[in-house]
Amino acid sequence: MANFDVQVNAFMAKIIAKNPGELEFHQAVKEVTESLMPFLEENPKYKHAKILERIAEPERVIMFRVPWLDDNGDIQINRGFRIEMNSAIGPYKGGLRFHPTVNLGVLKFLAFEQVFKNSLTTLPMGGGKGGSDFDPKGKSDNEVMRFCQSFMTELARHIGPDTDVPAGDIGVGGREIGYMFGQYKRLRNEFTGVLTGKGIEWGGSLIRPEATGYGSVYFAEEMLKTKGDSIKGKICVVSGSGNVAQFTVEKINQLGGKVVTISDSDGMIYDANGIDAEKLAYVMELKNIKRGRIKEYAAKFGAEYYEGKTPWGIKCDLAFPSATQNELNESDAKTLVANGCIAVSEGANMPSTPEAVEVFLNAKILYGLGKAANAGGVSTSGLEMTQNSMRLPWSREEVDQRLHEIMINIHKTCEKYGKDKSGYINYVKGANIGGFIKVADAMIAQGLV
Ligand code: NDP
Repeated sequence: MANFDVQVNAFMAKIIAKNPGELEFHQAVKEVTESLMPFLEENPKYKHAKILERIAEPERVIMFRVPWLDDNGDIQINRGFRIEMNSAIGPYKGGLRFHPTVNLGVLKFLAFEQVFKNSLTTLPMGGGKGGSDFDPKGKSDNEVMRFCQSFMTELARHIGPDTDVPAGDIGVGGREIGYMFGQYKRLRNEFTGVLTGKGIEWGGSLIRPEATGYGSVYFAEEMLKTKGDSIKGKICVVSGSGNVAQFTVEKINQLGGKVVTISDSDGMIYDANGIDAEKLAYVMELKNIKRGRIKEYAAKFGAEYYEGKTPWGIKCDLAFPSATQNELNESDAKTLVANGCIAVSEGANMPSTPEAVEVFLNAKILYGLGKAANAGGVSTSGLEMTQNSMRLPWSREEVDQRLHEIMINIHKTCEKYGKDKSGYINYVKGANIGGFIKVADAMIAQGLV
């Protein structure tokens, strides 16, 4: 084992030297490297082909200026990015994030994760990610539209339905996808599946908005099944109150669980009576239309509100981190385990710090990492691409069934590569090795790419 530690550290020293200051990227690469080192030793063809070194280097990084006019007529300048990480198994695919914390390192971590995640889905999608440090909060619809149009004016030359197909992520929902799609269409004079997460009337797929949250709950259900258990009757904590969190709550409710928390970047609410369908409808209206703060929920339904707090201190059976990266640290993980939490399913990307992951693995609880548990979103984006190519929409039931099957298959892959002699499934190892093999084999087959 120590031997592998030395190899991991030597590899990481090169990554850190080459990508200085990109902390989240270092974190994501290290996690994968730790899982892969023993596997590479047993499979030297990947080592000789330097797949790990190649896979950690983006195929292409695009950075650009995004100038736009605010409502006062003042000029604003943001920075736009698209990381085209790996196209070995299909066109680059991955979301766009608009958030003030966006920088090169954050997007490289997300693009890197996306390569493995997309491979796990079994659909033909490479990995990419993009976005901007633009903050949609507090901006008028017109300002968001002008920003999206300017952003797409540059991005359009780099993407296309067979090249790179972006989607939504934090700060990019149906509204932003609409403005960007409209601008792409004007520039190219083409109605094509260049973005996913489109509105249902103009090429979108049913179940795409629901997919990441639903998928994360389907994955939790698969993990629980390995213990002869289910979601029914379980107390659940969910973080975030955006797209992923909303549909995580919806699916948990449908399967008979009870969700007692949601949050936003200001704080969290604790509702011991559970966030039922009616309260969830209020949250959707509050967050998607009024664009308000989650503390308004507490006033409306008499729930408790904790400013600046995350949900991990609340006693629960299941936890669904669904807000952002590194939102759950070692001490949170210890609290969850001590409070009897038996499973964690990550709707967000890399929400648990490496120290928190170690706590979950040492406690041998069911730990479904983001690149497996939240792959339902990109899977359904893949299904949207298929429907766009066929120009034939599928029914809600058909898409949901395919999504469910994909999540079951991702779970099987994790089990295949992650189960140890004691029967414990290390989903981190399983997802990293399972996701790696297909991309690595394709890269070898395609020569020095
Ligand atoms: P949304 O923008 O719809 O919602 C994000 C939620 O997380 C909001 O409640 C937001 O609060 C909160 N949040 C964002 N940043 C922070 C922060 N720095 N600290 C605390 N809370 C924060 O995004 P999504 O629901 O789409 O994405 C959530 C997570 O899921 C992300 O990690 C994303 O990468 C991941 N994901 C999303 C997919 C998708 O299909 N949308 C697919 C796979 C993964 P506030 O409103 O205050 O900003």
